[in-house]
Amino acid sequence: MKTIPAKSIVQKTNMEGWFGCDYNMNLYKGCCHGCIYCDSRSSCYGIIRFDEVCKKENALGLIEENLRSKRKKGVVATGSMSDPYNPFEEKEELTKGALKLLDTYGFGVAVATKGDLIVRDIDIFREIKKHSPVICKMTITAAQDEISRKIEPNAPLASKRFSAVRQLSENGIFCGILLMPILPFLTDSEGNILRIVKLAAENGAKFIYPAFGVTMRNGQREWFLSCLEKNFSREQREKFERYYDDRYYCASPNAKRLSYLFRRECERSGILYRMEDIIRAYRKGYGEEQLSFLK
Ligand code: SF4
Repeated sequence: MKTIPAKSIVQKTNMEGWFGCDYNMNLYKGCCHGCIYCDSRSSCYGIIRFDEVCKKENALGLIEENLRSKRKKGVVATGSMSDPYNPFEEKEELTKGALKLLDTYGFGVAVATKGDLIVRDIDIFREIKKHSPVICKMTITAAQDEISRKIEPNAPLASKRFSAVRQLSENGIFCGILLMPILPFLTDSEGNILRIVKLAAENGAKFIYPAFGVTMRNGQREWFLSCLEKNFSREQREKFERYYDDRYYCASPNAKRLSYLFRRECERSGILYRMEDIIRAYRKGYGEEQLSFLK
């Protein structure tokens, strides 16, 4: 695996409204999951060989330095531009090492992933939880493995991700599902959404956070359209192009109805879906002053 230079890893974020995170860190650059809708491969981010996963030089040393120098403790997010549980993590153990440092220095963590390898680190999440908030977000966009295999070809199958949610939940880790993006004409059926809510409830998910559409930036769009043709059909590609042309946000034509059904089913199952409720729930008991941005 190629190593790339880095100056700093744990950085302050101004996106506290996004799962209540104070800092962000990426240990790897690039991602090999091959998701057809991946926003991180958009031209604006300038990552040339996105599918090649590289690790950051002296990542754990930098993280330790960064954490030591922070005057304010907080929740550190990971998983926004590359998956912290990519297949290389099993051997590299960078994410594992970073979690241990967060524990040592008294920080919380918010992980977003599609990797079922996350269950390896349950013991460390349990340790962090003793002093700081922990939230694990598993991205699942298709209930059926046959569809997830086509949409996220190199990521663990949806069934494995649900199983990881169950194991996290059984071990007392606050976890749930990122139901995003929902792809028009592919995953925006009532059946898919209702099945995901049902499986989420059965596997102990505390929340589901959805987006009933997908963004399309330059670079991302070309990749998406070519994958639609390759993994589905030319007709599927043409349908999408006809309907959305070069629109940035491509909302599902069924968004309104799906959103209504989704909320109804979540309420029936006791699953949270509003961002402020999710943040309150996982940060509960760790100091009310940390929630001031919600007011
Ligand atoms: S897991 Fe995330 S970063 Fe990786 S390819 Fe999929 S959408 Fe992109």
